[in-house]
Amino acid sequence: MRFRASFQTKLFFAGVSAAVMTLAVAGVLFALTLQRQTNARVEQTLKQEAHVAAELVARAPALPDGVDPRPVLDAEADRIGSLLTARVTFIAADGTVLGDSAEPLDAVRAMENHAGRPEVLDARAHGQGISTRASATLGEDMLYVAVGVQHPRIAFVRVALPLTTIRQQLASLLSTTVMALALALLGGVVSAGVLAGRIGQRVRAIAWVAERYRHGDLTPPRLDYGDDELGVVARALDDSVHELGNRLEDIERDRGRMATILAGMVEGVIVVDQGGRLQLVNGAAQEMLRIEDAPIGRHYIESIRHPAIADLVTAALAGRTPGSVEFTPPRDNARTIIARAAPVSSAWSHGAVLVLHDISELKKADRIRRDFVANVSHELRTPLTAIRGYVEALSEGDASEEDTHRFLEIIMRHTRRMERLVQDLLRLARLDARQETLDIATCDLRTLIEGVVADVEPSLDAREQDVHVSIGAGAEKVAADPAKLHDILRNLLANASAYSPERSTIGVVTRATRTELAIDVLDQGPGIPEADRTRVFERFYRVDKSRARDPGGTGLGLAIVKHLAELHGGRVSVSNRPEGGACFTVELPTGPRG
Ligand code: ADP
Repeated sequence: MRFRASFQTKLFFAGVSAAVMTLAVAGVLFALTLQRQTNARVEQTLKQEAHVAAELVARAPALPDGVDPRPVLDAEADRIGSLLTARVTFIAADGTVLGDSAEPLDAVRAMENHAGRPEVLDARAHGQGISTRASATLGEDMLYVAVGVQHPRIAFVRVALPLTTIRQQLASLLSTTVMALALALLGGVVSAGVLAGRIGQRVRAIAWVAERYRHGDLTPPRLDYGDDELGVVARALDDSVHELGNRLEDIERDRGRMATILAGMVEGVIVVDQGGRLQLVNGAAQEMLRIEDAPIGRHYIESIRHPAIADLVTAALAGRTPGSVEFTPPRDNARTIIARAAPVSSAWSHGAVLVLHDISELKKADRIRRDFVANVSHELRTPLTAIRGYVEALSEGDASEEDTHRFLEIIMRHTRRMERLVQDLLRLARLDARQETLDIATCDLRTLIEGVVADVEPSLDAREQDVHVSIGAGAEKVAADPAKLHDILRNLLANASAYSPERSTIGVVTRATRTELAIDVLDQGPGIPEADRTRVFERFYRVDKSRARDPGGTGLGLAIVKHLAELHGGRVSVSNRPEGGACFTVELPTGPRG
């Protein structure tokens, strides 16, 4: 694993390296300056000493001619040398050494000619010369200063100082400096460590808070961030995270609200993004287009199998607003859905929205309405045509009395038929408009059924039919609107009589179940074919259109029965008896019985 230095370590090393660099530069500059100054000072001192020595020599008493001046002058050199604590050499104008404080007299005599020494050459030329070199006499590095002197024998006085002395002075100064710098560095390291530790600790605390935020814990940490820039940054982080948290909460709430609305909508809604990927598909849309689970993120072409609908989305994505499309969902022919698509563009996103509206009920209602108008017109036209024909025949005035009587009877029958039709239509209109209210009373079923049989008596007698009434145990009474229950049973009984053969028996049976009371009306007629069992309760629906004219029904009786049963909270159904004939059953709720 690669070592990753912490912020604290980096800060520490930054501080230490800054201190090291500063101290190193300062140290080198200081050492160079010190060396230069020391050299300049030593040179200056040596020059002054050389002049002092020259002064002293100039004031010395003159020596008689012809005498070797060296013993006297060497002693003088020794004296001045000890005064100045430097090597003093007297040199004659021809370069002969006349005295030297560092050498005994014998050695002075043996010393080579100094006329060629660089400091002597310079002194001869400019009155003063300086040179640094190894001494041939003493064998060590020396700094020499030679000056000219006013003396009968001596031409130059030379003062020399061994460089080792100067270097020792410098070295001691430098070691003190290095010591001071080392101490300063140590102090720098310690303070960088302490400072980096403190800042590192605060940065770690802020990093810990940021990590917590990253994991979704947005509770305020209650840390003291301090007042400096780091504190300002940490507080700004805190504030923006909390602000962001609040916004996220708002967005989440809005999204939840929108999801609830979309889920509860009967309209299907699909939203696709610019790239054609599904962004939102509500439950209704999924059900209408038979889209399998989790289609979000997939391309709409994969999920929307209906080519016309896919084309709508394509057009909307291209920025057009295409017209609506009506379609029948796959494997569901009874439904009609209308689809509309529109492009959506906001500051953040582009795409398209598809809205699906189930118009099956509207279509059905529209079809029923049209059928109804056609049926009513048809039902009215038949009797009207007949009436008109007979009225015309009568108005001609040449019909016999017998024909006139027959024609008037026919006119009367058709007029009654129209009357019944209009009555039934008005009743259905009232039931549709919920204008009929229930007037509940306890009905004794035997009495009620007997009343109905008496009502239908003429038809029963004409066809020589018998009615057999059977009241089941616990099914003697029912809470219902007696007039409406009477209408229900009269319709069923009249149909049973009309559609059963002559001299047959019609049964009326009451039964009690746990929560309902059922009344069966059984006949021995042709029964109702399986396919027509729900449709016979529709308005004007007739099983056998050719058979319809004979019984003189309006085709509205069972529709009214269904309405009245439903008004009671019950229902009506039909089945065929195994032995032949239809069995119409009315079920009325009674509430749970003990
Ligand atoms: P209608 O006035 O024609 O009798 P209904 O609404 O009472 O109208 O009945 C609708 C249709 O149901 C009838 O035309 C007939 O074809 C059928 N139907 C009703 N009752 C019976 C029955 N008991 N046996 C056979 N068919 C019946």
